[in-house]
Amino acid sequence: MAEKSLRETLINGLVEAGIPSPRLEADIILKHAAPSYPETTPDEEKKAEEMLRRRLCREPLDKIIGCREFYKSYFKVNQNVLTPRPDTEILVEKALLLLPEETSLQLLDLGVGSGCILLSLLAERKMACGTGVDISAAAADIAAENARALGLESRCRFIVNDWNKTDFPPESFDMIVSNPPYIPRAEIALLDREVREYDPLIALDGGEDGFACYRQLAAFVPLILKPGGCILLESGAGQAERIAGIFTATGLALVEIAKDLSGINRCVILKKEVAK
Ligand code: GLN
Repeated sequence: MAEKSLRETLINGLVEAGIPSPRLEADIILKHAAPSYPETTPDEEKKAEEMLRRRLCREPLDKIIGCREFYKSYFKVNQNVLTPRPDTEILVEKALLLLPEETSLQLLDLGVGSGCILLSLLAERKMACGTGVDISAAAADIAAENARALGLESRCRFIVNDWNKTDFPPESFDMIVSNPPYIPRAEIALLDREVREYDPLIALDGGEDGFACYRQLAAFVPLILKPGGCILLESGAGQAERIAGIFTATGLALVEIAKDLSGINRCVILKKEVAK
């Protein structure tokens, strides 16, 4: 019997482990490990098998290949950042509807992670400058690397700090975006292994009830937002109304709760009204 091809070996391994879309994943592994497949060198075969071994431990494929597509760009990802999710693209789409094209703007992303939200906005608004804050220096490094790869480094800066402690002048941002950690602590154990074991806990853990970060943000975000400016927050399933309540209690006005592609309320948009 003919020896199994490398592609078959990959597919069989993925099927046996119950990984969805085994053919697609096998082809992605081949594309990265052995670009001239079916011609391969022993080193390329070893690389493909090593990628398969990692995938069978449920490491997400994006983290194995080190790259994830989000909105219109590719972002470097590793174990130090939350993998960008398609669900989050609604934040970018809604933010762009609110950001004029030809105006200089100051944007702030709190918990910037890979930089996917902030950098997607800067790529679409050439007059905008951005600040990304993250408590993780390793995450801020990835965001800075992504900024360089996208040619956006001259329009952004990254600050490593606890967002509470970052001292921004009052009314300094036209828009603030955030995808904070929002999983209630007790639910983290129930997440898929791909998320639980390979996304950083610090990017997921939203405290006992999942709202701890929103309460922290509500305490200072309204002060550093310019009058007329908006904040866009990602929300977990079933959390949007309560998030809106936390922020409207500070005097911000609710603009919209937007759904993601699966119809889940995913993005809470609030505005700081201009004083009359
Ligand atoms: N959306 C992510 C998940 O469901 C969680 C991201 C977050 O807590 N901000 O795994």
